[in-house]
Amino acid sequence: MRWRNTVKEIAPYIPGKSIEAVKKELQLEHVHRLASNENPLGPSPKAKEAMERAIQEVHLYPDASATKLRERLAQLYAIRPGQVLTGNGADNIISLVISAYIDEDDEVVYCSPTFPAYRSSTLLMGGKPVEVPLTEEWAYDLDAIREKITDKTKLIFICNPNNPTGTIVEDSALLQFIQEVPEHVTVVLDEAYIEYIRKDQYKTGIDYFKAGHPIITIRTFSKFYGLAGLRIGYAIASEELLEPILRLREPFACNRVAIEAAVATLDDQEFTEEHYEMNEAGKEYLTQKFSELGFSVFPSYTNFLFVHVKSDVQKLFNKLQEKGLIVRPCTPWGLEQYVRVSIGTQEQNELLVEILNQYD
Ligand code: PMP
Repeated sequence: MRWRNTVKEIAPYIPGKSIEAVKKELQLEHVHRLASNENPLGPSPKAKEAMERAIQEVHLYPDASATKLRERLAQLYAIRPGQVLTGNGADNIISLVISAYIDEDDEVVYCSPTFPAYRSSTLLMGGKPVEVPLTEEWAYDLDAIREKITDKTKLIFICNPNNPTGTIVEDSALLQFIQEVPEHVTVVLDEAYIEYIRKDQYKTGIDYFKAGHPIITIRTFSKFYGLAGLRIGYAIASEELLEPILRLREPFACNRVAIEAAVATLDDQEFTEEHYEMNEAGKEYLTQKFSELGFSVFPSYTNFLFVHVKSDVQKLFNKLQEKGLIVRPCTPWGLEQYVRVSIGTQEQNELLVEILNQYD
């Protein structure tokens, strides 16, 4: 079968060692991970309570349709529950969208460097990933993407904000792009980090969807909402666009504990507000300290910073890891002098700066 060959081309996704593995290997008592863009506050207190209640019932299968969560999200965005599809993390949704929408040899266009799942899922389905470079400012290049559209293009992914660079595309340019895309192409906006931008400051995929544009928006509870370990994400689109994806979705993709925790987190405004403010303050602090260290820091619309360290990033990584701090070198993206650093708590950020100050 053809895919058995394409599978060999897929570089294995190595998300880095677990905190436990690093502790054991380096005999460290404390290890902090600022590498996976997790919420350093932990889960919301309301989510913890909801999880404890949900645990009492884990002998029962979850609601296969995750109705409670879909209804809550529909209420939040003023859309219909049928326009929400939930899955086992945004990763799961990305692979479902690609599986549902492409046939062998179809093309999927996106910029690079970006989130690696667009490439791996496309290859897995026997499709052709078409990668175009980001702009000089490390943002998605919509003009370059437009030029790559052919009769075989089925999907365009726009990671907005982009991982690993933290950049966004200008919203008026994005709207124009969405309006001009040929009918045989579906635009997918991966908005894993969109909650780090205030609603009144930027138009999102959901605004464009509600204005009638046929796009798919993907979001997650892993980042802003602090539930990465539960694996829960969702897509928002018209019922027609979700229909082929629904056919492939595993019935129990979202577990009982995750559904309850996600709903409770959406209800916990105090927690989300605190996290937003903490992230903003941490971003400002680290941006300033990194600049003082002579690094170049790019403006970020997320909970991480993309940093040009101007030296071998692997050495820097090793040095930090020895001291119990894990960051994400951008070497898998071919960027030997760049690092992606998640914004931590103030204590974690200060620890990072302290270690970097000792480094030469
Ligand atoms: N999209 C982007 C841009 C991401 O950065 C991530 C997580 N790193 C995902 C999707 C996947 O998120 P999840 O944890 O919900 O699978």
